[in-house]
Amino acid sequence: MKQKLIFADDGYEQFLEYLKSLGARRALLVHGSSMLKLEVGQFLLNLPQQIGVDIVEFTDFAPNPAIESVLKGASLCREKQCDMIIACGGGSAMDVAKCIRLFVEVDMGREDFLSDLKSGRLPLIAIPTTAGTGSEATHFAVIYKDGKKLSIAEKGNIPQAVLLDEKVLAGLPLRQKKATFFDALCHAIESCWSVNATEESRTYAKETIRILIASEPRYLSEECTMADNMAMLLAAHYAGKAINISKTTAGHAMCYKLTSKFGLPHGQAALLCLVELWPYMLEKARADKGLEGNFQEIAEAMGENSSLEAAGKLRELAAKHGMLKPLCPEADDTLIAELTGSVNVERLQNHPLKLSEADFQELYRRILKGNN
Ligand SMILES: [Zn+2]
Repeated sequence: MKQKLIFADDGYEQFLEYLKSLGARRALLVHGSSMLKLEVGQFLLNLPQQIGVDIVEFTDFAPNPAIESVLKGASLCREKQCDMIIACGGGSAMDVAKCIRLFVEVDMGREDFLSDLKSGRLPLIAIPTTAGTGSEATHFAVIYKDGKKLSIAEKGNIPQAVLLDEKVLAGLPLRQKKATFFDALCHAIESCWSVNATEESRTYAKETIRILIASEPRYLSEECTMADNMAMLLAAHYAGKAINISKTTAGHAMCYKLTSKFGLPHGQAALLCLVELWPYMLEKARADKGLEGNFQEIAEAMGENSSLEAAGKLRELAAKHGMLKPLCPEADDTLIAELTGSVNVERLQNHPLKLSEADFQELYRRILKGNN
């Protein structure tokens, strides 16, 4: 399925036409609280007056959304007979909306309904308001059941259309912009070297890297313009398209526990892992010619001559934006073992280099020490 990309620089004209063409009568609007402050939020709430599409709002979910929230949203969607879903928000809103789309198709009362998910039928439109996750371009969603992470991956479950509206990024705090910027960059780098990478995913990943490196000095500063916002939205979206094919690798497999344990934003945790992982891989991979080619491609996209320089550049950027910090320089064996035990084994299968338990112990030691 080809995803339709719509830009908002024409006062939502094209977007409105697209919505009309779907012929829907009632939309379930999945959104977070921040949407109400945005122009696009007001535009969506006005759809009944504009084109006669009723809006049913669903906001009853939190970051790291629980399965109970999705069940509530899916029941509401059914009860109100919504024939379209619009997600406006960050990664959580996207994930909830994607899961609602799947859940409305099955008998949610059945104990094992999760193992029986089929492709959804309702049109799903995504409007990302925090550029970074790229979740609007992927077919996977993460929700939580009894505090445990559940990955819901259904191949066809990609939003049919995405509205990129650069105005949504205008009010984001710099700290949040930094975390999402580096998340997108980590997605692109990991995607390039993933064992599942294809010609298409590499093209998206390298384009992401080029855009991010070029827009970084302005996007992450007070001088940021609407053009820089659009560049960031597009880069995060391309990174999403890349990982939709390739998935992420060891960096993301290692970072989740750091987020919960040290209260780090996801993008910063992913970055801290990658900053140590990349040079470590170079040490280990010298003899691997195939891997060298991928590393070289990343280096070129970053404007560097060698992969060693590119890994250095990543660390430099992380330091420049205050993202490097020693999390726990005196880490004991118990903490290292806890972190090593948390590595997502499924994601490791996408990683191009075999890493042992001892490798992870060493990597976490370096990460916690913040060796910069
Ligand atoms: Zn990420």
